[in-house]
Amino acid sequence: MIPNQGKAGQDLPAHRIADWRLRQVVDDTHQLSKVGGFLYLFGWAVIGWLGDVMAFAPRTALAIGAGLLLLALLRLWMRPPVDGDPAANRRWLRRFALVLPLASALWAGVQAWILLDARFGADTRLVSLIATIGYATVFANVYSTVRHLAAVGVCVLFVPMLVVLWSHPGDRALAVAMSFYAMYLAGALVRSHAEYRRRLQLDLALREQRDLYENLSRTDALTGLYNRRHFTARLDQLAQRAQQGGAGFILLILDIDHFKQVNDRHGHVVGDACLKALADRLQRAFAPHVALLARLGGEEFGVLFEGSQADALSAAEGLRHDLVMRPLECDGQRITVTASMGVGAFDAGTHGDGDGLYRAVDLALYEAKGLGRNRVKSLQPANA
Ligand code: GH3
Ligand code: MG
Ligand code: MG
Repeated sequence: MIPNQGKAGQDLPAHRIADWRLRQVVDDTHQLSKVGGFLYLFGWAVIGWLGDVMAFAPRTALAIGAGLLLLALLRLWMRPPVDGDPAANRRWLRRFALVLPLASALWAGVQAWILLDARFGADTRLVSLIATIGYATVFANVYSTVRHLAAVGVCVLFVPMLVVLWSHPGDRALAVAMSFYAMYLAGALVRSHAEYRRRLQLDLALREQRDLYENLSRTDALTGLYNRRHFTARLDQLAQRAQQGGAGFILLILDIDHFKQVNDRHGHVVGDACLKALADRLQRAFAPHVALLARLGGEEFGVLFEGSQADALSAAEGLRHDLVMRPLECDGQRITVTASMGVGAFDAGTHGDGDGLYRAVDLALYEAKGLGRNRVKSLQPANA
């Protein structure tokens, strides 16, 4: 198996869709849960004031307030894992799904207490019921990220209230109304979860489209190598890095000799197949240290190489020899081609920038052609 190094498309993010979805669910769930805990606290403050709870049960009132505050803070404190490792995400989601309904359970207890204790007036009963409906509705709609979490939250809030209401003959009308509302919530929950999943699917499709277009914009359609535009950008980057004292690099430009004759003799379809076959040979020859392989246009290829100049020259010579010895398989035909190459290491003092190196190496390639083709011309005369 040839390593796909330096070839376009290699650094497309390999979307593992399930993991990506999980991370989205984790982020969305966390984002949506930030203020929810404080809503319970606010509700309890209103009820406490309205029902004058401090007058007849101050300790319980404070304990409930402290409990709700702690649970709200716990939600804020439980941040999702930073590294996005799927197992860690799953663990976080499981723990969060345990913590999240705790405030709802505490509120459900408060609601049952208000309904059962005659010291609470009709106003307090009414406001508490409205608050419970509100919390359950929020749960059903907001936690559409995880369906079972939303269902647990709604049940925890509604079931104790319904049990109390149904067990009181005087509250039958309310019990019936609340039971209908519970059914509506079950439907809303299923719908909002389905909508959330659809949105995720759409997000994923958009991301895939964006990645596809990004990849197409830097790829040569015929060979699958990078195109000239991307090559030039990477050349400039490597030159800048070297100018700032970073690692050096080598540029190689290859041009097939007398390629026009291949087209004239065998036709363009075979010519195209030869270009593809040559791209594979190029990849094979430079794989270990290659930074980037590109088709610069026509039958001209560029290599950015991050190994030593000696390695680059030996790979270039190896390729040249390989081309002479082994014909290319081109659309069912075996065709021998030779190639001329210019090779040079970037030197900030001599070349200035990436473009300076390109012009120097292009000149070396031109010299290789002038000297009779089928040769590698290095910028250093000693290595020529
Ligand atoms: P030299 O040794 O001087 O490089 O000779 P050459 O014939 O290779 O060079 P020249 O630049 O004169 O011609 C390049 C030829 O490459 C012209 C064209 O027939 C061929 N060519 C360029 N792009 C493509 C392509 O996409 N497909 C095919 N099949 N041929 C192409
Ligand atoms: Mg040529
Ligand atoms: Mg050419």
